[in-house]
Amino acid sequence: MKQEMNIQPLLDMTGKSTRPIIISGPCSAETRDQVLATARQLAATGIVHVLRAGIWKPRTRPGHFEGAGEEGLAWLIEAKEETGLPVATEVATARHVELCLKAGVDVLWVGARTTVNPFSVQEIADALRGVDVPVLVKNPVNPDLELWIGALERIHKAGITRLAAIHRGFSSFEKGPFRNAPLWDIAIDLKTRFPELPLICDPSHICGSRDLIPFIAQKALDLDMAGLMIESHIHPDAAWSDAKQQVTPAVLRTLVAGLVRRQPEVPQAGNDNVLAQLRDQIDKLDDEIMQRLAERMKISRKIGAYKKDNNITILQVSRWEEIIHTRVALGLAMGLADSFSRDLLKLIHQESIRVQEEVMNAPASGDSKR
Ligand code: PEP
Ligand code: MN
Repeated sequence: MKQEMNIQPLLDMTGKSTRPIIISGPCSAETRDQVLATARQLAATGIVHVLRAGIWKPRTRPGHFEGAGEEGLAWLIEAKEETGLPVATEVATARHVELCLKAGVDVLWVGARTTVNPFSVQEIADALRGVDVPVLVKNPVNPDLELWIGALERIHKAGITRLAAIHRGFSSFEKGPFRNAPLWDIAIDLKTRFPELPLICDPSHICGSRDLIPFIAQKALDLDMAGLMIESHIHPDAAWSDAKQQVTPAVLRTLVAGLVRRQPEVPQAGNDNVLAQLRDQIDKLDDEIMQRLAERMKISRKIGAYKKDNNITILQVSRWEEIIHTRVALGLAMGLADSFSRDLLKLIHQESIRVQEEVMNAPASGDSKR
């Protein structure tokens, strides 16, 4: 069901055509030099609308880099003055909001760990009352659409009209191929209920590893999302937080250039429209199949490690026969040809054996140490 919110365009301040909006920059502002060098390289790509960098970092465990703090704000402002890029950072308390506004930060975002807490969101909303600044609200870490909407409403009620949501995936105990499961349906539901609200995807925090980013970014554009927030760093592997998921500004440019931008309106009527809808269903299912296969291989890896520790052979013929027998019968009952199921299972089994062999043949973790 469609709901109303008074939403103004998010980033007309950039003066560029803003679809998709590209927000990029390091997970954390680490040093003045790192912020300025990243900003220069990002500005040189010509595709970035907003520079992001975390100043206060919510870390899962203590003892890690928790952000440069107030000092880092000055680096961001310096980067903005030099490159002309508007700057964005995460706020989690009223004090963060005050410091950002005083310093001249252009865009604020509420992080996933803050969105879960209505007390914190209300505190931020109260600090924003009477202020005209764009605010982006990340989804909560848990898959709760009402909580996400609640946070957006609290900020909106404080008078913020340049508002957007950021889809950054959802935490779960089951570890699939993604750091945070995308659960696209939740994002689609939000978009359906608030069509005027720009929805930005954050593939970096969904993926957790840089190789997957292009697929998630493309999927976000295919779902007609308004923009992408992608973490970038001059030396990604040396980043003080989220090293695995950051890309260089040059890689960002290639990645964004490689994305296919499709029209949100379906121009043709009749048959072509039907075809597009059917293909859309196929795309969604293929996505699901690839995700499940990746999860299955991860479990094979764990089985490989167990067999290695317990000196068990990789292949047990009886187990393999049981798999073929049960799955082919199930496939037949659901209308899949016997030969198709057999061929598919054989391929999956071969890959599972290969993965287990890889685990078996890997040197024990202590071996590599001198
Ligand atoms: C971030 O953007 O660096 C961040 C901490 O994100 P999230 O709140 O999505 O975890
Ligand atoms: Mn990060």
